[in-house]
Amino acid sequence: MPQPLDVEIQRLQLAELGSSAEELAWGGQEVSLTLKADGDRTALSLRSVSAGTELLSCSLQPDTIWQANERLFLVKRPRENGSQAGSIALKCPTTELACQLVAAMQSHIKAVEAAGDAFAKKTDKGSSDLYFYYYGMLQHQQNMLQDYIRTGTYWSAIIENAPDFQGKVVMDVGAGSGILSLFAAQAGAKKVYAVEASAMADFAKILASANAEVGSRVEVVKGRVEEITLPEPVDVLVSEPMGTLLVNERMLETYLFARDRFLVKSGGKMFPRLGRVYACAFSDENLHAELINKAAFWLQPSFYGVDITNLYQPALSGYFGQVVVDAIDPSVLVSPCASRQFDFLEMQEAELHHIVMPLDLEIVCDCRVHGLACWFDILFDGSVQPRWLTTAPGQPTTHWFQLRCVLEQPLAVRAGDHVTGRMELQSHNRQSYDILLTLKAPPVGPGEPEQQAKGKMDLKEPYYRQLNSWWQQPASQEDGMMTGGHAAQDVAASSQGQQDAAAASPASDLFIANMTGDHGLATDGVEIHSKPDPQRTLLATRNCPQPAQTLLLPHTFSGDTGCGGSQCSGDITVTLPSGCPGPWPVLVFIPGFGVPASFYAGIVDGLAQSGFATFQYDRSDPPPANHVEVNFFDELLTWIRTWNATAGSAGTGQLQDSISVAGHSMGGGLAAEAAGRQPNIIKALILLDPVDYPYDDLSVNTISYLTAFGKPCALINAALPCVYSSINGGPASFSSAAAPGSWHAIIANSGHMAFLDPSPAPGELFVNCPSNVDESLVVPPTLHIMVAWLAQQLGEAGTAAQAADDITIWAASQGALGALSLIIK
Ligand code: SAH
Repeated sequence: MPQPLDVEIQRLQLAELGSSAEELAWGGQEVSLTLKADGDRTALSLRSVSAGTELLSCSLQPDTIWQANERLFLVKRPRENGSQAGSIALKCPTTELACQLVAAMQSHIKAVEAAGDAFAKKTDKGSSDLYFYYYGMLQHQQNMLQDYIRTGTYWSAIIENAPDFQGKVVMDVGAGSGILSLFAAQAGAKKVYAVEASAMADFAKILASANAEVGSRVEVVKGRVEEITLPEPVDVLVSEPMGTLLVNERMLETYLFARDRFLVKSGGKMFPRLGRVYACAFSDENLHAELINKAAFWLQPSFYGVDITNLYQPALSGYFGQVVVDAIDPSVLVSPCASRQFDFLEMQEAELHHIVMPLDLEIVCDCRVHGLACWFDILFDGSVQPRWLTTAPGQPTTHWFQLRCVLEQPLAVRAGDHVTGRMELQSHNRQSYDILLTLKAPPVGPGEPEQQAKGKMDLKEPYYRQLNSWWQQPASQEDGMMTGGHAAQDVAASSQGQQDAAAASPASDLFIANMTGDHGLATDGVEIHSKPDPQRTLLATRNCPQPAQTLLLPHTFSGDTGCGGSQCSGDITVTLPSGCPGPWPVLVFIPGFGVPASFYAGIVDGLAQSGFATFQYDRSDPPPANHVEVNFFDELLTWIRTWNATAGSAGTGQLQDSISVAGHSMGGGLAAEAAGRQPNIIKALILLDPVDYPYDDLSVNTISYLTAFGKPCALINAALPCVYSSINGGPASFSSAAAPGSWHAIIANSGHMAFLDPSPAPGELFVNCPSNVDESLVVPPTLHIMVAWLAQQLGEAGTAAQAADDITIWAASQGALGALSLIIK
């Protein structure tokens, strides 16, 4: 801040020099010059000694006065109402007076230069250069202009409240293209100062002069709000200073600075008048898994021969250190919101430097909380018609979308639990904020510690995700910058958005009030089942304690194998229980393409220890061109029956008649097809990360086969956002085609190949899917789900809902509740 000066220099004389007749007329007068501290600026005043009037008053800038020769000084005269800027010359009758004036100016100038203006002081130059370069480009102004919800709401708020503008002096703080200035002039403002620091100011001038009817009242002032001067105070400020989460870009501080420096001291109006930030808990397994899967790239021990695994952890932190910007489906919200209000007319600028939001969020359903979902509203409190602009989820989408802070470690919660803690925003000099999250939730079970999660994100580092309106299918991803990315070109009709936003209270409040208590975790419309009953026993006890026996039995399938002869093994791998009496129920397990049957050892051994006999055969890679594989299935069923009936075979009389089928990956698609072709024979169906079969055929076989099967199935996903998820609609197509009562289990933190044991080398089979992430977290819950599902479907255990409760209780007992969500369709 400049040192306040308090200097009066008498007996100066105005030279007969000037740029207007008036200035020339002043020539020869004796004047006194005062420099006086006024807040953080220095006011310069020249008074005529004889007339006693003030000839000039302005704020002293480094270049307001400069020395022309030893005793002659030129003073810049700022533009006043109507008149052009000019300059006048001061003569100092003595060298002593000249020295006094030079000393006063220099000490002021030095102080100003050392301090910089309010903007320069708090902003890294690299950041602001880039910032104004960005806003200097028409395409970025266009992006904001064609956010019709934004621009339309501003227009309505200004035009409907024309009495607030009529005959008034207005300042447009950060005018960009000058659009809000022109709106204010349309509403009847007598003068609008459109202040814009970027090169866009030149385009704003063009727009103003091309729309002279209103534009003639708009004066574009090129420069930063913090460094410019205006000849008069203003009655109204208009501005669009909001970044993502309201405060990004730190332009609100400029808006408040303009209030303090330029707005009349009483009765001034600000459009907008206040802002509110909201933060709710959200649950979104897909998003969480997506971030983990992105980092899984770094798990490769041989990336072109280079081991990059040491960078996995920092890469993971990097992904969770970004804020995710996209249009969210409101159903991911699992609590009412905390909110924080900023009254732009009353608050102090310093309140924006460090913002703390205490949180106490009551959770509405059993789920894993993956972080906070945030957005903002602003209010135009016009004297005729107050109006809100909302960026809430579920409302017409704006170019700000919504923002999510995702926790690396989610919190497992039940309905009624409270997630407490705080969200802190700490400003930094790159025109943004660090976000610090500290959250707590109750223990997952008796004797467990309280759950804690921390997060640190940089609001300046957004991950622009699916930038469509929330009710549309995601289609593309684009990168954006500063303002919160690119507007969805096709946001909802502005009229509807304006009606919503015109409600007397902010749409966010309405939205929260409308929230029902039960929000699903998944994206495909299924619901979370009832709260588990802790009194129920754990999983149905099926116990065959001896290690499983595995037999490889030679076989040649008859007919067309469709898979190039030698690659197609006809041999059958049988895994049988041991140490417990049969007859055992039979499960045919169809492996994924190119994955040998032996890779599923962890699963089939576990099934054997729970009393199931599994039958597998190896699958070819690449896949056969058509459905011939399903023909193997019929033959396999016959073979199993014959083997059971053959005296002296290992399975003699040991197998039940019941046949179930399970499959992984494209084997899952095939299992669905097999079940649909044999609905009377197949008792139970389990699909592990299924992929439609054939995967490149858009005939969506799943739907017709699952419909033909007609009974519920269990769908277990470990790699929702992984490569297969985009094929033919991914898991959503299976889930939507499955009969009511089906289970949809989502195992987090894992990839498509984590169903395997032992796992193949990373990247060996599925390029985009982490294949070796937390396999130990995947196989045990998968086994429990499979056993409970099979037992229940074969009529051995209670209802499907009870079996689901058993699994949830089991997961909680393992401290693994957080890794598994189970939903009953
Ligand atoms: N008012 C316009 C543009 C809004 S974007 C509209 O509503 O369409 C914000 C604009 O403010 C950008 O053009 C940016 O360059 C400008 N801006 C940001 N900080 C500023 C500052 N300190 N001084 C002057 N202009 C600023």
